[in-house]
Amino acid sequence: MGLTAEMREALAARVRFYRELGIGELYRRPVEGSRIAELDVMPFQAGVEEEVISPSKSRVSLSNSELEPASIPGPGQAENKIEALKVIREEIGDCTRCALHTGRHTIVFADGSPDARLMFVGEGPGADEDAQGLPFVGRAGQLLNNMIGAMGLTREEVYIANIVKCRPPGNRTPEPEEANTCVQFLNKQIEVVRPEVIVALGATAATYLLGQRQPLAGLRGRVHGFRGTKLIVTYHPAFLLRDPRQKKEAWADLQIAMRELGLKREGLRD
Ligand code: URA
Repeated sequence: MGLTAEMREALAARVRFYRELGIGELYRRPVEGSRIAELDVMPFQAGVEEEVISPSKSRVSLSNSELEPASIPGPGQAENKIEALKVIREEIGDCTRCALHTGRHTIVFADGSPDARLMFVGEGPGADEDAQGLPFVGRAGQLLNNMIGAMGLTREEVYIANIVKCRPPGNRTPEPEEANTCVQFLNKQIEVVRPEVIVALGATAATYLLGQRQPLAGLRGRVHGFRGTKLIVTYHPAFLLRDPRQKKEAWADLQIAMRELGLKREGLRD
């Protein structure tokens, strides 16, 4: 059975995205039926050890609970985490702790799995996020979804949050007072989710997580220690939308995250 026009467009968009990442070679395995998910890609980036990622086969679960026997209740279990996150959300309440509350419609808490091994941290909600109450749902969010997909993962498997939970007016960078006031709640969320790897998206996320302001160039491309978790810094998707040439660099950063999570060797071509 052939692909529908919709599937063709989705596939073309995904191939365009891989090309932008610098992934040159793609191949198609024989597929049964019309399941687009069975189309495999072979990312290859010059200068980086060749690796093969198959989104269909590398769609490994990123749930911590799979690493722990389900029969042993413990603080790492998803239900406990859901409860603990609810407590943090209740503590935030109808927050008026900083000036950002005056312009917001919705407090944007987080999205994704409370049991995620991988967490993304952005800067703050934009207009779409403020309207929907979820992080990264606008254009930058679409690109982030593609980045997550390129890692062989789904948005539902990771945890996504921001340095500030209310939209800064005109999407300006949060002021230090706003970021410092809000980041305490993000730190609590990190303590509950306990991801193995955090990817800081852009300079604001890197600055308030690492507690030091440094140019992004000096922070990218390596693994930082952060409260017992590994932290990797990369470009913000909104920046990548403005300068798509940097997507290759971002992809290199994401590959570091994949390596740290043991995802690198998943989905080897058969
Ligand atoms: N940019 C961010 O930093 N966070 C969002 O949630 C959306 C856009």
